[in-house]
Amino acid sequence: MTSTEVDEFVSDFSRFYILMILYEGASHGYNIISRFRKTLGKDISPSLVYPFLQNLEKRGLVRYTVVPIGEKERKVYELTEKGRELCRRLFKRFAALVSTAIEPSLNICAHCGCKVYEGGHVEVINGKEVTFCCKHCALSYKRERKEGKEEPLFT
Ligand SMILES: [Zn+2]
Repeated sequence: MTSTEVDEFVSDFSRFYILMILYEGASHGYNIISRFRKTLGKDISPSLVYPFLQNLEKRGLVRYTVVPIGEKERKVYELTEKGRELCRRLFKRFAALVSTAIEPSLNICAHCGCKVYEGGHVEVINGKEVTFCCKHCALSYKRERKEGKEEPLFT
């Protein structure tokens, strides 16, 4: 999955939060909806939750088991290893992004998303200064852009 696809995925905070809930542990759709209400004091539409879960499943990021709960059978979703990996990557980038908002002097590496406190490795790419943590990240970034698979996650 490319970063552009990742962007589409978390184009709104609700989807991001669903991933956070799933990262904490297996959950069924209704549980996600009630977590939203409890934690954020916000209602989330089932028409957002269920298609998103199906989409994640199609991409091999979650799997589900059917579990009888009360009188109903519910699909309990859990992240696959691939899904957990995606979440770790997303959360790391998101955390770094939040850090730069709080601490404007901070940069994040455009490739791996780690924090760059001082200097780092700066290159001019397409007339724009881009900061990396190291030369290797700059190389990988340029290589992936040439192959057209890596767009910056947050711009
Ligand atoms: Zn890096």
